Amino acid sequence: MSSLRFNVIEEAFKKAPVFVDAPAERPSEFYGKYVFDQKKMFKYLPAKTYKKYREVIEQGAPLDMKTADEIAEGMKKWAMEMGATHCTHWFQPLTEGTAEKHDAFVEHDWKGGMVEEFSGKLLVQQEPDASSFPSGGIRSTFEARGYSAWDPASPVFIIGDTLMIPTIFVSYTGEALDYKAPLKKALAAVDKAGTAVAQLFNPDVTKVTANLGWEQEYFLVDEGLYAARPDLLLTGRTLMGHESSKNQQMDDHYFGAIPERVAEFMRDLEIQALELGIPCKTRHNEVAPNQFELAPIFEECNLAVDHNMLVMSLMRRVARKHGFRCLLHEKPFAGINGSGKHNNWSLTTDTGIILHAPGKTAEDNLRFLTFVVETLMGVYKHNGLLKASIMSATNQHRLGANEAPPAIISSFLGKQVSEFLDKVENSTTDELFRLEGKHGMQLDIPQIPELMIDNTDRNRTSPFAFTGNRFEFRAVGSVANCACSMIVLNSAVAEALNNFHARVQTLIEGGAEKMHAILQVLREDIKTVKPIHFDGNGYSDEWKEEAARRGLDCETSAPIIFDRYLDEASINMFEGLGVMKKAELEARNEIKWETYFKKIQIESRVLGDLVMNHIIPVATKYQSVLLDNVQKIKNTFSAEEADELCAYNINIIKRINKHTTFIVDAVDEMVETRKRVNQIADVRELAVAYHDEVAPFLDSIRRHIDKLELIVEDEMWTLPKYRELLWIR
Ligand code: ADP
Ligand code: MG
Repeated sequence: MSSLRFNVIEEAFKKAPVFVDAPAERPSEFYGKYVFDQKKMFKYLPAKTYKKYREVIEQGAPLDMKTADEIAEGMKKWAMEMGATHCTHWFQPLTEGTAEKHDAFVEHDWKGGMVEEFSGKLLVQQEPDASSFPSGGIRSTFEARGYSAWDPASPVFIIGDTLMIPTIFVSYTGEALDYKAPLKKALAAVDKAGTAVAQLFNPDVTKVTANLGWEQEYFLVDEGLYAARPDLLLTGRTLMGHESSKNQQMDDHYFGAIPERVAEFMRDLEIQALELGIPCKTRHNEVAPNQFELAPIFEECNLAVDHNMLVMSLMRRVARKHGFRCLLHEKPFAGINGSGKHNNWSLTTDTGIILHAPGKTAEDNLRFLTFVVETLMGVYKHNGLLKASIMSATNQHRLGANEAPPAIISSFLGKQVSEFLDKVENSTTDELFRLEGKHGMQLDIPQIPELMIDNTDRNRTSPFAFTGNRFEFRAVGSVANCACSMIVLNSAVAEALNNFHARVQTLIEGGAEKMHAILQVLREDIKTVKPIHFDGNGYSDEWKEEAARRGLDCETSAPIIFDRYLDEASINMFEGLGVMKKAELEARNEIKWETYFKKIQIESRVLGDLVMNHIIPVATKYQSVLLDNVQKIKNTFSAEEADELCAYNINIIKRINKHTTFIVDAVDEMVETRKRVNQIADVRELAVAYHDEVAPFLDSIRRHIDKLELIVEDEMWTLPKYRELLWIR
């Protein structure tokens, strides 16, 4: 009898919600309570220092040490009033998650005592020993220094007793060892390129900002049940488990009523996130049982990325307080939806215009068209690279499966925008067109007001869909750092905008009228980007064939998809924009391949252990029970009667044997394969071998285990089943 499994089920059933006290204040009042935001800076800094800080943020002016010291002094005062005793640089190394190293605010007073001190130098720069962070060979161990440097554009905040300072992280020789450094460079590139193009329409524009609104999906699992599943614990996903008879087929979970224990978790999470300045807005049940989503209002991209990293760690922490574990893996359960992180992205100007939104006048819409078409251009030229930016050992389970975007990047525009593009392409005059905005839909239902219908439809099958005033990049994985895809997207669009601007400029210098020049270049580009535009069903097999004909990247093997980072076009783009150098790209790929093979290696080991410690012993034990029964029947009845009475059990005994034999043989073979491929020295080849030769065992072994789960007596089965993991909360 498997007591652990039944104990944790019983415990989970009994768990009451952990009620969270309602805050006395309204969200608008406690929003940003633990953030040293502009308002607090204004209060805690001398006026001149505050002004300098604004110049640093808005015009990219350098930060001098004197100003840094003064900012640090104000920060310390605020932080100590809030009860903070320590500070840390908080950065995003090339692993999953964030890193921090805490230092207390103390120094010798040289009179035998201590003083609270926090200098500008400590704020601006630290030197964490970097040798344990992945560097992809950029830094051999004797050059273990890595530097973290404050990012003044992302405000510092307090968690517990610690002042957290968002920083970039670079090597001794200046190569980026993190996500933030190249992201900031990509954002600067798209600002510069976007501003030049926006100025063609309005000379007052001086800055273009990239916005990001992420939608974070996640699963919650009861902590006790989670602890009884070593595969979830060690790999973040279930390596086995037969489908629950009921899962998402009734479509009753999506937007369904939120269970109370979960609702309290969400409330707690939101309060804490709001206090940290994360503008949470939406929460709901997702498609799969126990799957949920949290989405804030969009923000400037760099800040939004930091906030997403913060939310992911907050989710994990708050979940534990409520007796849950938060699963951020893209595919924790086979057979039901996985989790993604839709990245809603747009560009806006400092004159208050969303460049990806249609406007009121025909000229506004030419601007809108320009930014849509040049976005498509970036996505088209670098579709393979964009796919590489979201690919990982964990996200590969989701892409191409039947609920997620396919492993081919294309863009959905919707009927109206598509027709608009066609019209412009085929027009022979410089006549400008109006694009219809929202229109009213009269419903003949009493008392229900007229609905405003968007000018785009939705297409859930598109990985990069236009949604009215932005593009939504849906292929991003739930556990990923959004910076990875945002670096590529913003760079690709910056390159396209630069190219567009240069060609328009050439025509103007040749005597063309400005609007005529813009239209002429756009007509060419509308033709060029046609292959990336696809409004049909991205899940269909016909699309795979069609996409290949169109020359889109259709590769499905993750380690090979990573090669796109080292394509000449990618290197030229990143180097040309000053985002990353070839050596940095090579280093990053080393890390991607290494992470990839290690994840599969760990999964393969965990599966091997579970087979030998749980599955085979349990199956054999049940087989013995059946054999016992057969023996007893044979002892009791005549041979003829016994044959008939035992037939059923004998059949089951044989079936168990068939599965256990397959499993044991396959595990042996998997171990041998691992041993063999581990000899491969080249990390890319190693990753490819793990993909091609080791990973397939995980699926085939699983299939047989899942069959056994159906046969073996329920009481003997030691691992919580899907129906328990997913339906008990
Ligand atoms: P859904 O796609 O599920 O309908 P929402 O409409 O709630 O989701 O929006 C998803 C995210 O998109 C939110 O974070 C929202 O703030 C963000 N968003 C809305 N408009 C823009 C925009 N112009 N640029 C970037 N993000 C945006
Ligand atoms: Mg969305």
